[in-house]
Amino acid sequence: MAREPVTIGGVTVAPGTRATIDLSLGQLYNHNPISMPVHVVHGRRAGPQVFVCAAVHGDELNGVEIMRRLLATPALRQLRGTLLAVPMVNVLGVLHHSRYLPDRRDLNRCFPGSETGSLAARLAHLFMREIVSGCTHGIDLHTGAQHRANYPQIRAALDEPETLQLARAFAAQVLLNSDLRDGSLRAAAGAEGVRMLVYEAGEALRFDERCIRTGVAGVLGVLRELGMLRGRTGRTRRREPFIARSSYWVRSPGSGIVRMLRGLGDVVSRNDVLARISDPFGEVEVDVQAAADGVIIGRSNLPLAHEGDALVHIARFPRGESGDGYAFDDAPDDDSAWLPEEPPIV
Ligand SMILES: [Zn+2]
Repeated sequence: MAREPVTIGGVTVAPGTRATIDLSLGQLYNHNPISMPVHVVHGRRAGPQVFVCAAVHGDELNGVEIMRRLLATPALRQLRGTLLAVPMVNVLGVLHHSRYLPDRRDLNRCFPGSETGSLAARLAHLFMREIVSGCTHGIDLHTGAQHRANYPQIRAALDEPETLQLARAFAAQVLLNSDLRDGSLRAAAGAEGVRMLVYEAGEALRFDERCIRTGVAGVLGVLRELGMLRGRTGRTRRREPFIARSSYWVRSPGSGIVRMLRGLGDVVSRNDVLARISDPFGEVEVDVQAAADGVIIGRSNLPLAHEGDALVHIARFPRGESGDGYAFDDAPDDDSAWLPEEPPIV
């Protein structure tokens, strides 16, 4: 039986074809039209409809490159189902190298949005109506904020068995069970029955090759888990992920110049020294210590801090467990057989 075409933003895409569609956002105040570009891969055969999106925060760019490589993957020619790729959800933020919209709102606090609300609310509403509403699953690609890097990690509602299975298929080394943040895309899509994963990796306004490779392999792993792609993985081993139920931020105990002593993926114990803060003359020095055992999943890269600034993000080990059984190494979690030939970004 022939598959139906799919219609996005008023454009109809036939089975077995691909199209780039501009979802109109109206006009800028200089009279130029502005749109959110979407690439649609509508498989010849039936299957789930999945969206992958990036730059909901306009300065978080690793996902933009993940999307480019994803769309170059030869295996997509045999896709079952439909893939909607939205590399820049917050197009206005991307133009300004900014996390926010020009009205200073955080788009990821404005979902599901409304047709008559603020600029951010309208953008969220358009995205929900045109992209999310027809989908069964979604993957939202993020990075840390400016001057803050995240270790590659999946955040999702891991108490839902199917979501946990998809999170494992992404094969990041760290899975963090996180509560829904009100107004987030994940919360709004989840409320419509869409299974959501959030991938966090790297730092705003920077490309990180390892985070990008892990992300591309991760999205392909999820599509394969959903039965949308066939074929064997090139992965020789699939690591058992570390599943964290909670995390905490270590804040700077004083103001000064920061020397970070531990890196992303480091396993740390309570009271370990993570960083040292000193005044510019080196006369006064304060240790920054871990409050509980865990693994470093985020940290500041700015060597300056005021008292109270968040410096190190640590995912806690489950009660009674130590970090002995875990290894967080630097080898990219990739899946080379699936990935297009690509010179690494250095
Ligand atoms: Zn983000």
